[in-house]
Amino acid sequence: MAGMTINGSTVEAKSTFGVINPATGLVAAEAPLCTPEQLNDAVAAAAAAGTVWRADDEGRQRLLLTLADAIIDAQQELATTLTLESGKPASVAAFEPVVCATWLRVVAGMRIPREVLQDDAAARIEVVRRPLGVVSAITPWNFPLATAIWKIAPALRAGNTVVLKPSPFTPLSTLLLGEIINRLLPAGVVNVITGGDQLGRALIGHPVPRKVSFTGSTEAGKDIARAAGADLKRLTLELGGNDAAILLPDVDLSTAVPHLSALSFFNSGQACALPKRIYVSDDRYDEAVEAFVAAAAGIKVGPPDDQSVGMGPLSTAPQFERVRELTAKAVADGAKAATGGKAIGGAGYLYEPTILTDVREGMAVVDEEQFGPVLPILRYGDVDDAVRRANDTTFGLCGSVWGSDLDIAQTVAERLECGNAFVNTHGALLPHIPYGGSKWSGIGVENGQEGLLAFTEPQVVHIARG
Ligand code: NAD
Repeated sequence: MAGMTINGSTVEAKSTFGVINPATGLVAAEAPLCTPEQLNDAVAAAAAAGTVWRADDEGRQRLLLTLADAIIDAQQELATTLTLESGKPASVAAFEPVVCATWLRVVAGMRIPREVLQDDAAARIEVVRRPLGVVSAITPWNFPLATAIWKIAPALRAGNTVVLKPSPFTPLSTLLLGEIINRLLPAGVVNVITGGDQLGRALIGHPVPRKVSFTGSTEAGKDIARAAGADLKRLTLELGGNDAAILLPDVDLSTAVPHLSALSFFNSGQACALPKRIYVSDDRYDEAVEAFVAAAAGIKVGPPDDQSVGMGPLSTAPQFERVRELTAKAVADGAKAATGGKAIGGAGYLYEPTILTDVREGMAVVDEEQFGPVLPILRYGDVDDAVRRANDTTFGLCGSVWGSDLDIAQTVAERLECGNAFVNTHGALLPHIPYGGSKWSGIGVENGQEGLLAFTEPQVVHIARG
């Protein structure tokens, strides 16, 4: 069993919890269940490590680059662990360590700015950026490593230290990441503890950390905002989404649909920033559905350790049940499965890539984040109608518009109420570009300079002269 990383040591726990392999539905490994004392130790270690860590800008930069190399060296082991605990096919799992290394390298090269506001005979006044201290980082199961590094890299670059808690569904790859980090970074700078939602609540409720960086569901995000607010902790929330993609009448379906299909079924549809509702103009609807069905037929579904598989199982039993229920309910209410529509059967949580037609707002599969390989295709009359319906949601993560006239497509994209609006692509996330949601999809951003500054707070330094 992998251990937690606390104050530079690999730590066992008094008790453990089972981690299920979604390809079999069976317990594949045990993970440590962090005790309240161990949580205290992790936070205390992070606080103690901060004094030296925050003072060594050059060292922080160098160590982030070293960590990027170490993650690439461990790519295979990390990918195998990801597949075991999340059911990601080998190719998707191998991609996640690469994302981590890319992010670490870009963030290592970022600078914390100092801004001179006044420099004259009367005074020199500067705004400098101070680290916040200990950061509580909490991550979901769909991209355990990438979501962790998106927090760790900027938090450390800015001089903070971290206590990281991954999802109880996928703790193993993060425990391994903790061991890799522990070989390179000073003791206490990053601590990894594992347990359920209750441990997350205890970490958020701990008085020492000054910043919470959370990726996960909107429901948990609201809970966390309340708890963090009670202690005035700084907060970044990356939450759920129900992204709309609008296909304009002049869309080139031969390029747009394969692209959208690859995105929507990526990671079995279990990613935040994916197209989850497709709006197609009346006159192109039948043609578009045919193209989506053909694209879905090209996806090979099967056990994730088979190198030729494009889509593995859903990652968790509750998610598998939810996708089954959402689809069954939609079909009972009049939707049609143009392809797919059911679980594949046998061991594990395999589900067919599904295209739903005859769907409408008011069906949960349209209104809620389905987070699975089920894609509703909706008709619209005119573009204003499509924009109104795309925006008629509490979510606001990403959105996209697909068309041949880029100026028109951009005008429509700018009407979408979401944090990142794309034209002819969707969810293209990059380390130097800010990313975050509006409405219930989040507070603040990750990535880019704005994401880095979210791990700092401004301090005005005013030197009176004369
Ligand atoms: P989840 O909210 O159930 O759990 C996420 C993490 O929070 C886990 O570590 C969990 O143990 C912990 N947690 C749960 N309740 C908590 C509480 N009250 N206090 C403290 N910690 C708590 O989410 P999930 O099911 O693991 O992940 C799927 C969700 O994450 C989807 O909604 C998806 O859209 C979202 N997500 C968003 C982004 C983004 O960048 N916006 C990225 C990936 C996933």
